[in-house]
Amino acid sequence: MTAASPCSGRSTCSCCTKSAVISLRDRNLQLCGDHFREDLEARVSQTVRENTMIRDGDRIAVALSGGKDSTALLLLLDKVVKDYTGVSLAAITVDEGIAGYREDTVVSAVRLAADLGIEHRIVSFPELFGASLDTFLKGKETRACTVCGILRKKALATAAQQAGADRLATGHNLNDEAQSVLMNVLRGDLPRLIRDSGKETEFFIPRIKPLQEISEKEIAVYLMIRGAWRELPECPYTRYALRAEVRTMLSKLEYDYPGTMKRLIQSRKTLSACLKKSDVSGPLQHCKQCGDPCSRELCQVCSLLPSLRL
Ligand code: SF4
Ligand code: ZN
Repeated sequence: MTAASPCSGRSTCSCCTKSAVISLRDRNLQLCGDHFREDLEARVSQTVRENTMIRDGDRIAVALSGGKDSTALLLLLDKVVKDYTGVSLAAITVDEGIAGYREDTVVSAVRLAADLGIEHRIVSFPELFGASLDTFLKGKETRACTVCGILRKKALATAAQQAGADRLATGHNLNDEAQSVLMNVLRGDLPRLIRDSGKETEFFIPRIKPLQEISEKEIAVYLMIRGAWRELPECPYTRYALRAEVRTMLSKLEYDYPGTMKRLIQSRKTLSACLKKSDVSGPLQHCKQCGDPCSRELCQVCSLLPSLRL
């Protein structure tokens, strides 16, 4: 059914006669806005169902930074949960305290949650850890993303617990997941490479990633179609991130060899399945200081905070 308009060079939707708004090269499909929205919503629904990410009666905390991924996540979950009985959503925003960046996304998050009528909580680094990320990082900017990642994970888990959630949904997309695989390989961090954060344990609130099979490009187009696209500033610490380099490299590889990112993620699944029985991360215990689950004497947050003393 695929047809191309020879004069304009623009392609036609593979499912109807309208102009395509997106080309999904790895699936050899061109879709118009309506068919793309339908296709993407069905795929997210399928990911949630196939991985049992949501069950009837669940309360789901949704990490809502107000950026593109989390905005799409909340819009999509608001729809997906209607297929289940008695599921409630609570949006959670972590304000790390990043001047010139976070203020705008927090405003977007507040607006979106209010528009959808979803309960919303905001927690901040000063309130939880005693200072903003900007303050912690004075003179240590190169450690920004490591510090931010560790503290934000704890902040989200705390807020999700306060909200009485059974699961925590995050907006990690296909690009993020593929980048993480490559970064963990580059760092030689096998335990983290194969860790399954969605696993049910007595220790952690399970995390779910409903957008794990949706690319950054698809999310951007979806937001435009839903009228939810906003130009937001970029985090000023991005330039210190290994992720930024990996992101550029993977985007180029994906363009030259469509399907690269999906294959990378598949290789992690295959490796995890092979190593299922061997314990590469060590047994879990409780942090001596705060009682949180961890694989060493002190959890990452309690090990990190003294090095950030002001
Ligand atoms: Fe945090 Fe780094 Fe992301 Fe900025 S780029 S929000 S510092 S993880
Ligand atoms: Zn601790």
